[in-house]
Amino acid sequence: IIQMIGVSKWYGSFRALTDIDFTVNKGDKIVVCGPSGSGKSTMIRTLNWLEAHQEGKIIVNGIEMHEKMKNVDAVRMDIGMVFQHFNLFPHMTVLENLMAGPMWVRGVKEDEARKTAMKFLDRVRIPEQAEKYPGQLSGGQQQRVANARSLCMKPKVMLFDEPTSALDPEMVAEVLDTMIELANDGMTMVCVTHEMGFAKAVADRVVFMDEGAILEESDPHSFFDNPQNPRTQNFLSQIL
Ligand code: ATP
Ligand code: MG
Repeated sequence: IIQMIGVSKWYGSFRALTDIDFTVNKGDKIVVCGPSGSGKSTMIRTLNWLEAHQEGKIIVNGIEMHEKMKNVDAVRMDIGMVFQHFNLFPHMTVLENLMAGPMWVRGVKEDEARKTAMKFLDRVRIPEQAEKYPGQLSGGQQQRVANARSLCMKPKVMLFDEPTSALDPEMVAEVLDTMIELANDGMTMVCVTHEMGFAKAVADRVVFMDEGAILEESDPHSFFDNPQNPRTQNFLSQIL
């Protein structure tokens, strides 16, 4: 679905990504980890074209993304994105938050948007919260609304950037559970997270980044039990 080939990115003179080769195939569940400032968010944001890159190619659904392209939104629609901070509209109810994207961007009719919204609220197990405002929900509930909102757009792939890192510990599990279910349903996912339990449970590939480069990429078994790169070993010894 997505291919990054030799992608490099600079913020001014600072090189944030160095020669990234990264492929996401249909059905993949990929976990991206690495120290703070290693470029994980930058890579995810570049993938989704929220940030421009200066070298290399990014190909989404067979279409190469480039600066002058007109249908960026069409490409982006296939890519769902969930952030650390949930970015829900505070003045809209949960239901309205879920219906907005499909209606405004995809042109879905109101009835159908409502039906889809309720389906995904069920999926993240908070249908009873539909009429509340985001401010009236717990952090974990808000994050599940954010997940449901992305799903309502029927993306082909979901990108998560540390979806649980802003949550109180007791809320992390409930969000991870719904993500595990999503993975089990076959959703293609790229997830930046430090939740190594999640990585072991669902990932079929783990990617380790440091200083803007991918240093190691392997199946979770090799990654955790037999990391090859010294920096991966060092990273794992600090967090496990
Ligand atoms: P964290 O785990 O803390 O979220 P990260 O791996 O997601 O870290 P990035 O946010 O991708 O790291 O940042 C990579 C590097 O790029 C950092 O050194 C950061 O300071 C720098 N950077 C990120 N965004 C910008 C920006 N808009 N302008 C300049 N530098 C930036
Ligand atoms: Mg980040």
